[in-house]
Order: sequence, then C-alpha cells, then structure tokens
Amino acid sequence: MRAIDCPCGHHLEDTDDEELFRLAREHVDRDHAEMESSDEQIRERVAADAYDVEPVA
Ligand SMILES: [Zn+2]
Repeated sequence: MRAIDCPCGHHLEDTDDEELFRLAREHVDRDHAEMESSDEQIRERVAADAYDVEPVA
C-alpha cells in the first residue's frame, strides 16, 4: 500500500501510486479546488511525498 498525507491533515492511501494519484485528484478537487492544481502537480506531489505502508490484515 502507498499513502500520502495532505498538508490539510487528510490521510490518503491506496494500492499504488496511480490509485493514490486518483484519490489525491478527487481530494484536491473537493477540498482544495481553490489551489487549481494540475494533474502534473499532483503527480509530482505523490512521487515526492508518498510512502509505503503495510496493509492491515
Ligand atoms: Zn487536503
């Protein structure tokens, strides 16, 4: 699993970076629409800040 913490405190996690990107895209659109982040900016954030987490059994 991969996870990322939004600066707002929202924790996102999913199976891989591509799914995490999709989650982050939705979260930014819903909660940070004023940031007008591009897909590229979000991908860069995921690539830079995402980290591995152990799946919860
Ligand atoms: Zn956020």
